[in-house]
Amino acid sequence: MNVLVINCGSSSLKFQLINSDTEAVLAKGLCERIGIDGRLTYQPAGGEKSVEEKPMPTHTEAIQYVIDALTDAERGVVGSLSEIGAVGHRLVHGGEKFASSAVITEEMIKAVEECNDLAPLHNPANLIGVRACQELMPNVPMVGVFDTAFHQTMPEKAYMYGLPYEYYEKYKVRRYGFHGTSHSFVSKRTAELLDRSYDATKTIVCHLGNGASICAVRNGKSVDTSMGLTPLEGLVMGTRSGDIDPAILEFLAKKEGMDITELMTMLNKKSGVQGVSGISSDFRDLAAGAEAGNKRAQIALDVFCYRVAKYVGSYVAAMNGVDAIAFTAGIGENDGSVREKVCSYLGYLGIEIDKEANKQRGEEIVISTPDSKVKVLVVPTNEELAIARETVALV
Ligand code: ADP
Repeated sequence: MNVLVINCGSSSLKFQLINSDTEAVLAKGLCERIGIDGRLTYQPAGGEKSVEEKPMPTHTEAIQYVIDALTDAERGVVGSLSEIGAVGHRLVHGGEKFASSAVITEEMIKAVEECNDLAPLHNPANLIGVRACQELMPNVPMVGVFDTAFHQTMPEKAYMYGLPYEYYEKYKVRRYGFHGTSHSFVSKRTAELLDRSYDATKTIVCHLGNGASICAVRNGKSVDTSMGLTPLEGLVMGTRSGDIDPAILEFLAKKEGMDITELMTMLNKKSGVQGVSGISSDFRDLAAGAEAGNKRAQIALDVFCYRVAKYVGSYVAAMNGVDAIAFTAGIGENDGSVREKVCSYLGYLGIEIDKEANKQRGEEIVISTPDSKVKVLVVPTNEELAIARETVALV
């Protein structure tokens, strides 16, 4: 079956058409500047990438262009719409309502809408994509795959904040975690690569991209993760602060005369390694900066790696041990120096890194030595494939 995987934001939409039997990507692309002017980037497998300006006043036009490109006589990859068997939508927040993926129905959409307050920027945008697809492909079954679902197995002690209980009861203020599709995919693949049973393995997944989170997976279940009510908690990220003393908000509000919106923008967009270094959120720029003697770039890298290592240590405690640590996403897959630095804090676990293996980029590889007590791996994530698999399983 061919599955169209859609990741819809407020002004952009990423897509991949995946053949679920071969798991090959038939075509992929991106619609940008929806509601502004519109641009379609499209690439069929083995074919050339094209970029076209197209008017996209709403997501419906954007998805129509995607369908047109996929079914085009020359650059298309399917003969007609009837060859698309299902659509898998990435949905950000399923609150406590969704502990797994779900077939999209009116009732299901209503339940997702009830979670909108928890992700006001993402959920409504995701649902616009769902509605537009329903309009253009009324007879194609659709599935929603949630970023939060995998973490619904976290125990209370991991998801409750030390806040008055009434806020949990009234508004469901608790930790949810994100990147669940990636953490699930990578932890499963890690067990496969090590030829271990997923149900009897303790894995720590370090999803280190522009947004970054860590997850403790015990016997196939998420037992803790570093993001919380929102994706702001946890690691120091590209532009997000991660964990801070909450009293800093009041302190800076008074000193700088900032209101809550300005403070939140600062924490989400101007902090992280970007804020510390003052150079960039991109680790390639930071490495170049540090190499050239820029002190703040070096501090940013040090702060990032130290925070990752501290979380790994805390998850070893959470699971009373660890069998494997997997690095994934843009930084985790590509930046050997970050991996090496993080692991340099973990010698007490009996971890030894094979420096040659650790030079590899972007491929599945064990980077620990054969003697290392804990296996360390690079496992490229593939959220689209994970969504396609979930979709097929449900339709
Ligand atoms: P997201 O999906 O959260 O936007 P990605 O997982 O795509 O993020 O990761 C993007 C980040 O990965 C970049 O900001 C950059 O810091 C890092 N990155 C990508 N390629 C490399 C590389 N070759 N070396 C080091 N870091 C890289």
